[in-house]
Amino acid sequence: MVVDPNEPARGAPLAEVPPPRPGESAWETALAQLDEAAELMGLAPGVHETLRHAKRALIVSVPFRMDDGSTRVYPGYRVHHNVTRGPAKGGIRYHPSVGLDEVKALAMWMTWKCAIAGIPFGGAKGGVAVDRKQLSRAELERMTRRYASEILPLIGPERDIPAPDMNTDEEIMSWIMDTYSQNQGYSVPGVVTGKPVSIGGSKGRGGATSRGVMYMIFSTLKKLGVGIDEVSVAIQGYGKVGGFAAQLLHDAGCRVVAVSDVEGGLYRDRGLDPEAINRHKKEAGVVAGYVGADGITNEELLEIDCDVLVPAAIEGVITARNADKIRAKVVCEAANGPITFEADKILHDRGVFVVPDILANSGGVTVSYFEWVQDIQAYFWTEEEVNDRLRAIMEAAYEEVYQLASDKNLSLRQAAHWIGVGRVAEAHLTRGLFP
Ligand code: NAD
Repeated sequence: MVVDPNEPARGAPLAEVPPPRPGESAWETALAQLDEAAELMGLAPGVHETLRHAKRALIVSVPFRMDDGSTRVYPGYRVHHNVTRGPAKGGIRYHPSVGLDEVKALAMWMTWKCAIAGIPFGGAKGGVAVDRKQLSRAELERMTRRYASEILPLIGPERDIPAPDMNTDEEIMSWIMDTYSQNQGYSVPGVVTGKPVSIGGSKGRGGATSRGVMYMIFSTLKKLGVGIDEVSVAIQGYGKVGGFAAQLLHDAGCRVVAVSDVEGGLYRDRGLDPEAINRHKKEAGVVAGYVGADGITNEELLEIDCDVLVPAAIEGVITARNADKIRAKVVCEAANGPITFEADKILHDRGVFVVPDILANSGGVTVSYFEWVQDIQAYFWTEEEVNDRLRAIMEAAYEEVYQLASDKNLSLRQAAHWIGVGRVAEAHLTRGLFP
């Protein structure tokens, strides 16, 4: 962060985020997964080398005026990992830990995710290294509009379509859509997804990632021969994805025994009531302090004795240091990259059934694709159509990944990478290397 020396600083400084330990960063995890898939599938070395690199990365400075008249400058990023199968697609994250390597990893995962779902997009990601809680709404809007202006050369409905991610939401998407449209001189709804329905958003987009996570848990339970109402679930992260997943899974009959956000968590063996927690969170701003449950830490939540664990917060929370303490039988990765490469091997050896992020959380990008299609056609679908098509795509993708894993004796993650990387590689080889 750079503060204008002529003007007084305002608010608390950025929260300190310790850098990841060696082998635990998102970029190291993403590269190790790609390298393993390349070896397993015998990927052409030239394509493998190409895919190890992001196609382009833009680093910007985002200066904006604070409410007290001072100026702040935060670093921002937008990365396109690959656009061989279509325009780049990926969320925008506001978090103090955002940096080039993290954004590159998230963009790479988006490439595989789109390919596995059969969506004609490449992978992108972006973000600003900012602690959103330090900004007023007006400051957040000015920062967002300036960031959008800085990445204008990369974005557009046929180039790169951003969406919400951690600490960004549909209001932020509407400011980006408006900033882009003001520059064009006409409305361009298809430049972002995850925006409000009133300006071209899709019905069902808000809950799509959580709904997809639920479908992937149900598909897994079906394979394991376990009933939906027989399982206990623990969810780390009570934001857009984790919070709504808790509600959906509870409504479907699962026993949601633990939830948490960055400030801590809750546990109740007989099951939590997400509606009551939502009411508490609306008042208190956090889940902690809710009287109907015991308080637990985020570390304790991960190690709880439950059937299904859903990490839905940030990357790198299950590492070689705690993987042998995970007691869940199934881990469904709602977050991107919550399990490091080394930890994934430990879980696999212990027989934990892991549904990988690039399959499990693809509901968001799938309905983002629907939103983009609706914007381009200016023809909008019912929520039922959206949810039905989402379920059909995700269940088909699950089946494909599961079959390949069974046929070749792979983990679900290895099979998902095999399919995702394979489709991107095929597109590369079909188009040829320019010039
Ligand atoms: P969000 O900002 O709405 O919520 C994040 C939640 O995680 C909050 O409850 C926050 O308090 C909690 N959290 C943050 N840091 C934490 C920590 N260190 N320990 C425990 N909890 C912590 O974000 P979101 O959109 O729900 O995204 C969550 C994850 O899901 C991210 O990994 C994101 O990349 C992934 N994801 C999101 C979407 C989407 O559509 N929003 C799609 C696919 C994947």
